[in-house]
Amino acid sequence: MKKLLVASNNAHKLKEIRQILGDRFEVLSLKDIGLEVEVEETGSTFEENALIKAKAVYELSDMYALSDDSGLCVDFLGGAPGVYSARYSGEDATTEKNNSLLLENMRGAEDRNAKFVSAVVLYFGDNNYICGYGESKGKILESAKGKNGFGYDPLFLSDELNKTFAEASDEEKNSVSHRKRALEDLIANLDEALL
Ligand code: IMP
Repeated sequence: MKKLLVASNNAHKLKEIRQILGDRFEVLSLKDIGLEVEVEETGSTFEENALIKAKAVYELSDMYALSDDSGLCVDFLGGAPGVYSARYSGEDATTEKNNSLLLENMRGAEDRNAKFVSAVVLYFGDNNYICGYGESKGKILESAKGKNGFGYDPLFLSDELNKTFAEASDEEKNSVSHRKRALEDLIANLDEALL
């Protein structure tokens, strides 16, 4: 089975990527191969950031590198936090601080529509890469619900599941998630010869 190095240190993302791609690729983390790297996300779009991360990790490891850049885009906030989702509350951002700030900024908002977005890039050398894109729509609740998942999951009521991503099981979340859709899009774009 072809090896894929995931350009992320986020254990939750890795778990989801393994659950979704595990039967096609041997999915390795940076930790698995002892690579310590923190790539600065200097792009202004999810796609740009995913490419920056995948390329950097490929160059350090010489292995096919898969990167996901994802985030939450809220209509009432003009698409924020978007590419800044991980650092919404600043340099020393934590999930708790990010979620509190989101609730504060959404106080009184009638339009609570939002979407999770994921761009994935598989980089395989010499500026050759494949992209995938996925979205999942929902609404921002007024308080957290559920204990599963990570990040903004407890505040995100999925339109399709009619429960928050944090109330959903792994299988339920993976059946409608932005990351699942981006990875499916990527697989559809994969050249057969690569497999
Ligand atoms: P990245 O590591 O730059 O892609 O940052 C992604 C950030 O977006 C995470 O730290 C979360 O705050 C948020 N995010 C992305 N995907 C999800 C998800 O599936 N659930 C909850 N939050 C997510």
